[in-house]
Amino acid sequence: MAAETPLMERIVALCKRRGFIFQSSEIYGGIGGFWDYGPMGVELKRNVKEAWWRDMVINPPIGPKGEPVEIVGIDSALIMNPKVWEASGHVGGFSDPMVDCRACKARFRADQIDSSQCPMKPSKCPGQHDKCDLTEPRAFNLMFQTYVGAVQDAASVAYLRPETAQGIFVNFKNVLDTSRVKVPFGIAQIGKSFRNEINPRNFTFRSREFEQMEMEFFCEPDEAMMWYEFWRNTRHQWYVNHGLKSDKLRLREHAADELSHYSTGCADVEYLYPFSADFQELEGVAHRGCYDLTQHSKHSGKDLSYFDDDLWQQDAAKYKGDADAAKKAKENAPYRYLPTVIEPAAGADRTTLALICEAYTEDQAPNDKGQMETRTVMRFHPRIAPIKAAFFPLVNKEGLPEIAEKMFRDARRRYHVAFDTKGAIGRRYRRQDEAGTPFCITVDGETLKDGSVTIRDRDTLQQERVNQSHVMSWLDERLMSAKSD
Ligand code: ATP
Repeated sequence: MAAETPLMERIVALCKRRGFIFQSSEIYGGIGGFWDYGPMGVELKRNVKEAWWRDMVINPPIGPKGEPVEIVGIDSALIMNPKVWEASGHVGGFSDPMVDCRACKARFRADQIDSSQCPMKPSKCPGQHDKCDLTEPRAFNLMFQTYVGAVQDAASVAYLRPETAQGIFVNFKNVLDTSRVKVPFGIAQIGKSFRNEINPRNFTFRSREFEQMEMEFFCEPDEAMMWYEFWRNTRHQWYVNHGLKSDKLRLREHAADELSHYSTGCADVEYLYPFSADFQELEGVAHRGCYDLTQHSKHSGKDLSYFDDDLWQQDAAKYKGDADAAKKAKENAPYRYLPTVIEPAAGADRTTLALICEAYTEDQAPNDKGQMETRTVMRFHPRIAPIKAAFFPLVNKEGLPEIAEKMFRDARRRYHVAFDTKGAIGRRYRRQDEAGTPFCITVDGETLKDGSVTIRDRDTLQQERVNQSHVMSWLDERLMSAKSD
């Protein structure tokens, strides 16, 4: 694709060409705001989610005072009792102001008019053509509505969840009662969310169906600011660790007038995607106070408070002999209280897209004839690369394919790896470069003589000869150490 083609178009074309991302229902003309992940994309996104889960639930970071942090996972239903959404404020409140154009029938977010495009040619902002006829901004509910059961009436209305967080809040008591967690602790969830976005655009960035990776961290009110700062910084660093190392990534603290009424702190991890001159949100880290648990307590009539038994055991002696005072004390702070919540809420699709944009590179590399040519290479961090290594026989004879295939079969028990026998070796390298495979391993004539194979590094193009019996440990070293970068 010509170098003058805008970068974002080149990235979208690569995503299609290499099987990362396809338009949903493409053979029927697609459907706005929905995307499908192909064989490469599904691996990439799985690796993103796997890395998040591993770093949150399986092996969480060490806390601000050097203590182990405890986080458990859940997987709640996509459709919940509609009362959940009344309590959370989504029914009624979850709407963006929108503007319709009576002339071209397009719909725009009122707060994004200046960065939107009118479908009429030449492209301009809505309202800038003579024919534009914009309505006043109106509220538009973003929740997808459906019906549960055979009868479609007001009583059977339900919603596809617009976020995973509420599934966590409504299970707070279940988790507390069934696992041995103690405040401070977190509950994490990864799953699909749905928002009927007015103006889905910018590839997968603003979709109508997307995946979120959310964690609600429940802590003592006094320690909430400490945990807020901890999660804000930890989450920002997580993206750096997974390859967003450029100055296109930033952490932005919200100004006081941007905060929700219940929040005392919010920061966005933002990325400068190629489709916009402005930084865009990848993840929001919010201090939510005890808003959500308060709302669900009120609406459900259930007590969602936390009792700090450890603290009570320390103090119980003070109340010895005064059962009434003890009973009263146990019902109040500091023993019983609603925990404050710190919420890091990330998007798996926006993260995947940022990693794709950051990885996309065009450089110069020699072709099969030794001439330099432009190559497209996806410089993914090895931890998230869809394919970790590819095995090639240099030629399809002299027993080389058999040796390469045996190595491939051994390696695939541990990693997602590829085996490719088709075309000149340079073309095979190019295919793996576009998929972002960090290492290519070639079996050649030397292998027959001394058992060594060539390992080529995607980024440096350096080739190293390694004995075939050491290839797995060589890979383990590179891929395992990548986890703790
Ligand atoms: P925006 O202001 O961009 O609409 P938001 O502030 O409403 O996003 P949150 O409700 O905080 O987003 O959701 C948490 C995360 O979920 C976001 O940081 C983002 O990564 C992801 N997300 C939200 N909406 C979408 C969407 N329409 N498409 C893809 N990902 C989304």
